[in-house]
Amino acid sequence: MKMNKPKMASEKGVPSTSKVHILLAQLERMTGDSMVTDPEASRQITSKLLHLIQTQEKTGREVMSKGTSGMEVILSSLESTRDSQTTLNILCILSELLTLGKGRRVGAFVSKGGTGVLLRILISASREGQPSEELMLQLHSLLAKVGLKDRKLGVKARLSGAVNVTVNLIKKNLQNIKLLLPCLQVLRVYSVNMVNAISLGKSGAIELMFKILAPYSKKNTSLIKVTVDALAALLKSKTNARRAVEAGYVSTLLSVYMDWHRHDTWHRHTVIRKGLLCCLRNITNIRLGRRAFTNADGMRILYNSSSECLTVRTLDPLVNTSSLIMRKCFPKNRLPLPTIKSAFHHQLTHVLPSGPVAQLYSQPPGVDDVVDDSDDNEDMDADTENDTENEEDEKDEKDPRSLNEDIEKDINKLHPQKSPGRPFEELKVYERFFVELTEDFQGHNIDCSTTASTTSSSSSARPSRPVIVPTAQALSPNHVTTQNSQVLCPPHKGRDPPSPPSTATAPLPPPALQLDTFRFNKELSKKEEMQQELLHALECVSVKAEAFLNADKHKGSSISTRKPSQSPLLLEGIAIRCMAGGGGSDCGSEGTEDEGAVLEVPDTAQLLPLHDLDLYVEMVKGTHSVPQYTEVAYPDYFGHVAPTFREPLLERVYGVQRSKIFQDIERLIHPNDILDKLLYDLDVPSCPVIESDGESLKFNSQFESGNLRKAIQVRKYEYDLVLNSDINSNHHHQWFYFEVSGMRVGTMYRFNIINCEKSNSQFNYGMQVLMYSVQEAISGRPRWVRTGTDICYYKNHFARSSIATGGQKGKSYYTMSFSTSFSHKDDVCYFTYHYPYTYSSLKMHLFKLEAMRTPEIYLRQDVLCETLGGNSCPLLTITAMPESNSSDHICQFRNRPLIFLSARVHPGETNASWVMKGTLEFLMGASSQAASLREAYIFKIVPMLNPDGVVNGNDRCSLSGEDLNRQWQNPDAELHPTIYHTKSLLQYLAHMQRAPLVFCDYHGHSRKKNVFMYGCSVKETIWQTNISAASTELQEDLGYRALPKILSQIAPAFSMGSCSFVVERSKESTARVVVWREIGVQRSYTMESTVCGCDQGKYKGFQIGTRELEEMGAQFCVALLRLKRMTGVHNHQHLLDLESDLIGTQPKVVSCSTTYVMDEDEPSFLEAVDYSAESNDEDGEADSEAGASSRDVSGTPDSCAAVRLSDSESSKEAWKTGRVANQ
Ligand SMILES: [Zn+2]
Repeated sequence: MKMNKPKMASEKGVPSTSKVHILLAQLERMTGDSMVTDPEASRQITSKLLHLIQTQEKTGREVMSKGTSGMEVILSSLESTRDSQTTLNILCILSELLTLGKGRRVGAFVSKGGTGVLLRILISASREGQPSEELMLQLHSLLAKVGLKDRKLGVKARLSGAVNVTVNLIKKNLQNIKLLLPCLQVLRVYSVNMVNAISLGKSGAIELMFKILAPYSKKNTSLIKVTVDALAALLKSKTNARRAVEAGYVSTLLSVYMDWHRHDTWHRHTVIRKGLLCCLRNITNIRLGRRAFTNADGMRILYNSSSECLTVRTLDPLVNTSSLIMRKCFPKNRLPLPTIKSAFHHQLTHVLPSGPVAQLYSQPPGVDDVVDDSDDNEDMDADTENDTENEEDEKDEKDPRSLNEDIEKDINKLHPQKSPGRPFEELKVYERFFVELTEDFQGHNIDCSTTASTTSSSSSARPSRPVIVPTAQALSPNHVTTQNSQVLCPPHKGRDPPSPPSTATAPLPPPALQLDTFRFNKELSKKEEMQQELLHALECVSVKAEAFLNADKHKGSSISTRKPSQSPLLLEGIAIRCMAGGGGSDCGSEGTEDEGAVLEVPDTAQLLPLHDLDLYVEMVKGTHSVPQYTEVAYPDYFGHVAPTFREPLLERVYGVQRSKIFQDIERLIHPNDILDKLLYDLDVPSCPVIESDGESLKFNSQFESGNLRKAIQVRKYEYDLVLNSDINSNHHHQWFYFEVSGMRVGTMYRFNIINCEKSNSQFNYGMQVLMYSVQEAISGRPRWVRTGTDICYYKNHFARSSIATGGQKGKSYYTMSFSTSFSHKDDVCYFTYHYPYTYSSLKMHLFKLEAMRTPEIYLRQDVLCETLGGNSCPLLTITAMPESNSSDHICQFRNRPLIFLSARVHPGETNASWVMKGTLEFLMGASSQAASLREAYIFKIVPMLNPDGVVNGNDRCSLSGEDLNRQWQNPDAELHPTIYHTKSLLQYLAHMQRAPLVFCDYHGHSRKKNVFMYGCSVKETIWQTNISAASTELQEDLGYRALPKILSQIAPAFSMGSCSFVVERSKESTARVVVWREIGVQRSYTMESTVCGCDQGKYKGFQIGTRELEEMGAQFCVALLRLKRMTGVHNHQHLLDLESDLIGTQPKVVSCSTTYVMDEDEPSFLEAVDYSAESNDEDGEADSEAGASSRDVSGTPDSCAAVRLSDSESSKEAWKTGRVANQ
């Protein structure tokens, strides 16, 4: 009787806790045989227990509390009972217990083996023919809860055969909503496992889901939600996706989605709508699905529905997923080009048969960029879905391993091994570049043996002719130049050479930059009139230019003539101006320069001490480009004066990317709105520039460093631009530099550079493009300014074939899109990726540096070699003259440690040149620091390692079509002359026991902010690997850290946190690693300067400008001086010891601050989900693992969440792979 009145129990005043314990103890005693023999007793006990737990919450806590064996007792009773009522009672008890406790109780249940017990009961009940509905309901409810915590539930269920039980149950109970719901919840958990999903697909689970799936209804929405989620999980399997496509379910999904979209007017069921989109998203991972989607008019349907959602912010997830699907299904297209090989080809005299150029040009025409459908790799789908158990535990270990893949683990390679490589006989010819090291001085026999450096080996190499080392006392400043066998700068006719200071006094420091108060004598009110004059002057000019150029041609110059109609404005104007300025009055009245009305040029001489307009044109004439450019871009001619204001990083507006993508999709949906008007095309030799009709902009980029290949007007104010590939290659698109004219004032124009290649860009993180307005320049503001709004960098629908990408999958291109308006009528504007710095600019600057030389400065300019394109590669030597010709002073002079600097091996990294300019100006400057620096060191500088790349507008390569910073291990004398000879200089020095104290190659970084260094450390590399055994004993000098450490203290843009000293395999043929390993320079660095801006220090939040870059170059010098002052001695080894003291670092401390280079620099931004949309690159199998770990607390293994997670994974992957190419 008592048992039938359980309520009485607590009314008797006995504490419930003790009651629970009594009941549990009774149950425990029954476990085993008596459980079977006395079912009535077990029924009673469990019934009482259930009642207690149902009525008093604390009893549940009592059972589950730590130290008690309540759960074990319950589980073993459940296992041993054969009585269905008892089983049901216990299941109800468990259900009550597991509902509370936020999953912790479920965890305890799982850890005590509860899952297995449930599955066994399920199986044995299913064998009984007609299992009790109540039992099945309880079992599935519990399993659905267990799915939260037991990541292996899917695997356990499959192995025990429970999966099919559930499927059969669903099949038989389609109308039984009460039972159906928990069964579907469990199915949803099972489906996350990929092997289950495939097997469920085979047993008809997809068809089953579509039977339950229904049009909009207010009833049973939770059932629909679970069904949709389970379906989305099932469709992650490509086999299942194919099955669904073949059954015609794509259009079903679309119409169900539209039904919910139309009827769910209060947006109460966005989760269901999102789930339906996830189904579509997964099904379109296969090509068949994408085709079915477009055939079912999916693009238009999703475009229209998401356009209607745009206004409601809470519907963003729907819009984002829709745009993701649309982008995937947007038909892949080839670029609008006849070939993606560069429009220009440089015939190499010497081509390695296995080299990249030979491979590229041996391809049949047209093959190189056809979009190849086989790129989908779909044939492999079925195979990858075989019975590979997706055991989730493996996953966690996988990532760090792949991160480590590129780290050099070969201990032998990690130890610097001086290998001068070539016999000294061969290197002797380089002696002439080191006059300062070897010469006798005015007949004195100087014994410098104290330093064991320029001793026996050098004496044999000494030239027979005594060469005079000039001293400050003895010689005039010009002397050094004239004794050079080769003079870098061409003779400068028709004008006075830059006059060096006549006395030993230092040149005046440049005046402070006050640009905004600086005015030219032109009156702005005369603007209109001036325009007319300008045009007239230019007409005159172009005629003259031809004459000028022809004359030049007769002299054998390589500058060719273009018809004026083909080549607009620029060089003609400038060339003539130069002629008129230098040669007299040929040009008539327009040619006179002293009137304000004529083409007024900004007098930047006061502001830019190294700039000289006429000199620039002279330099251009000696520059050889493959396309034989005859024009000069105004910005390079006028020069750039850094603005006085700071330019903050652009704040990214939410939804920019989405709206750009929608506009792109509109091209497909409303093709008639697209103009498709060709305006500029390098591939059509006859009409590179289409005359403007007033409705379109005019484009041009046929000048040094320019690289626009094609411009197409797509809408009234929107232009697609295609960049040219690096010469003799078919890729490397990042750098750009082009001219625009014919604009309307105040109109917003959109520009899309559609063939970018890197998978992400600082344009997504605050960087703007640079614009130069000629009108602004002649109004007294000659400068590049950061400009552009709605800037966005995203994957587009253009792609190239796997053949073109060297056997990888076909690769998508990226669009860099920006919008801007223009403020002046009849302006000529320029857009560029980063502040241009041409080869001609370098030559001009070097020429002007000569003028900064004082008698105290020893400056020599040599030509290291000629490039493939016929340009000279300059080599500079800067130090101080010996104080006198006393032997002490000469010895000091010769024994100064060497500093070897280089820059611009990558032509697109113009910032490196600006940093180098800062270094050179500082070194030549009049400051006492500069003087001390010159007295301390001998500087050897190759300021531009890749002149040809710079001249021809390449981003990365030289004319050999190769990245020169991957050739340092085995440079070819003919194909990579600048690298070959620079390395030889270093090898020569190594032979002479004069290896530089510091080697640094200046670069630009397109993905990270700040300025930072890469160096080489054995220890820090080993710490990144798992090789721990040998490393503990390893002794390594910490001197390599001193210079970056000093820089982080004095240079505001420099960030120690971004530095890395890890040696990577992919970098083993870079300058830094080779100079470290083969030449034995411990302080061998790459210095990377951002193209974007800073996120730390004084410049935090601002974009970087030339002022900051030049400052960086100057601070680098100051740091070298500190490095020297830290010691006060010249002895290398001693210096190293002292540095270690200064840094005061224990290895462990040091390791903390090392950033591994692969670390992602930027946080993902709001629209990341759009950004990383892939159509060909999905890895559905990996997703299933991610899905298992991303179940949310509410108990829904959210397939959409899984999708998001895998996206961020794949974008991280892209970061890793993309970054490798950066240095
Ligand atoms: Zn670089």
